Amino acid sequence: MLEVVQIPVLHDNYIYLIHEPNGWATAVIDPAVAEPVLQTLEEKGWKLTHILNTHHHGDHVGGNIELKRKTGCAVVAMARDKERIPGIDIEVSEGDIIGLGHAEAKVLDVPGHTSGHIAFWFAEEYALFCGDTLFGLGCGRLFEGHAKEMWSSLEKIRALPLSTRIYSAHEYTQANGRFALQMEPENQALQQRMEQIAKLRYLGLPTVPSLLEDELATNPFLRPHSPEIRRRLGLSKAADWQVFAEIRHRKDSFT
Ligand code: ZN
Ligand code: FE
Repeated sequence: MLEVVQIPVLHDNYIYLIHEPNGWATAVIDPAVAEPVLQTLEEKGWKLTHILNTHHHGDHVGGNIELKRKTGCAVVAMARDKERIPGIDIEVSEGDIIGLGHAEAKVLDVPGHTSGHIAFWFAEEYALFCGDTLFGLGCGRLFEGHAKEMWSSLEKIRALPLSTRIYSAHEYTQANGRFALQMEPENQALQQRMEQIAKLRYLGLPTVPSLLEDELATNPFLRPHSPEIRRRLGLSKAADWQVFAEIRHRKDSFT
């Protein structure tokens, strides 16, 4: 069993530390900053072996160099993005397997937010670390990709087991939910989820990770087939990716 520690940093980022006790491996996903990671490692008595980066943005790689210098760990990231990932040691691409002691993660190529974005899928743990591709009730902005490309990335995630835990890199769920309710106000699962989210946030608790099953039922970006969304957008006959593109477009100007 992997132990996962969630570290909230900056305004709304999450860093994840993953420890595999039998093989003494410890990985950090998307270290925006180094200091809180070093502190948690010390508290736990763990030695950092890997940095796994989902994409090149500063709030995901900012701690790479300092962590590498202080722990001697290896940086694992997308081969296509080797010029933009500080300190990259191991270049990976779609389907590659990363061993962490006795655990392993499969690399999923999920471009759209950036052209080199990847996710780490721990099949035995039903855990997906997806950076800025999928959020609670939302998805990443299309900075370097087209809607069609992002939609096929999201389809890869949609095909994972329903009990998959979605470890996103940001706490955006509640704000995303306000937009989701505008897209699908009659969705009862969404209404209920928004009540749970409000309780969690009131108590200062994270809404991440979420379950893929819940995202499929409530996240408009995974629901372009929804008759209510299609009716609202006047896109009853469009392809799923086109409906997705319109939802993404409207979210970009939603305040
Ligand atoms: Zn990003
Ligand atoms: Fe980010």
